[in-house]
Amino acid sequence: MKTLKQIIQEADNGKTAIGHFNISNIEGLWGIFNGAKELNVPVIIGASEGERKFFGTKQIVAVVKSLREEFDYPIFCNADHCHSYESFKEAVDAGFDAVIYDGAKLSLDENIKETKRCVEYARSVNPEIVVEGETGYIGDSSKLLDSIPDGVAMNDAMTKSEDAERFVKETGVDLFSPAVGNIHGILKDIANPRLDIERVKVIREKAGVPLVLHGGSGIADEDFVSAIKSGIAIVHINTEIRIAYKESAKESFANCGEEIAPYKIMEKSVLAIKDVVKKRLELFSK
Ligand SMILES: [Zn+2]
Repeated sequence: MKTLKQIIQEADNGKTAIGHFNISNIEGLWGIFNGAKELNVPVIIGASEGERKFFGTKQIVAVVKSLREEFDYPIFCNADHCHSYESFKEAVDAGFDAVIYDGAKLSLDENIKETKRCVEYARSVNPEIVVEGETGYIGDSSKLLDSIPDGVAMNDAMTKSEDAERFVKETGVDLFSPAVGNIHGILKDIANPRLDIERVKVIREKAGVPLVLHGGSGIADEDFVSAIKSGIAIVHINTEIRIAYKESAKESFANCGEEIAPYKIMEKSVLAIKDVVKKRLELFSK
C-alpha cells in the first residue's frame, strides 16, 4: 500500500489532483468511499473541528483505517483547519494521516511561528504524517453565502508567492494552501469568483511543495482543470456534498411514510453524495 505522501507526489507529478471530501456522519463516509471506489482513485476524508466533535476524533481515524485495511484501498483521513495548537495536537495524537494548522487569520510572522511549532510536534509523533499550512483568509464555513465574507483575501490581498516561499521554507510544511480567489462556501445568487491561475503557477514554483485548493465547491470546471495543471494536487469539496445530503434527506423524509429504519431512510443520501463525489473525481483525475 502506498503512503499518502507517495500518492500526493504521484498526483503532483502527473498533474492530477486527489479529492478531499468532508464528512459529518457515516452516510458521508460510505458515499465518498463508494464514489472513489467506482473510479478506483485514492481519496481523502476530511473532518473539520465541528465535524470531528460530532463524529468523534478517534472514531473517524478508526473507521477510515478500517476501510483502508479491509478493502486494501488508498483512503486517508485529514484533520481539516485546526485553529489551535491543542486541536492540532489532538488530531496528531488520534492518528490522522494528515493535519492542517490554520493560522490564516494571524499575521504572517505569527502564522509561521505557530505552524512551525505544529510541524515539529507532528514529526516527533509520526514521521510519515502530512502537515499542511496556509496563508490568506478564505472564509470560515462551508455553507450557502449571501455575499463574499468580510476579510476574505481577494485581488491584491491574495497569497503572494514570496510569502508562500518564506512560509514553506521556515515552517517545513509538506503542503501549502493559498488564497487564489477560492472561498469556503457557495454564493447563493451569483457564481463564485474565478481563480487566479497565473498566481497558482507562480506560488507552486516558489513554494516548492504541492498545493491544496480549499473551497472547491462552486468553482467552474475549467478553473479546476487549469488550477490542477498549474500545481494543485488536492482539492477540497464540502459545501456541494452538504447540499446533496440535505436535499436528498429532505426528499427521503418527505416520502418515507411509515418507514422508521434510519438505514432505509438515509439510503438515498449515500447515493446522492456518491454522485457528487464521482463527478468531481472524474474531473480531478483527468
Ligand atoms: Zn478548507
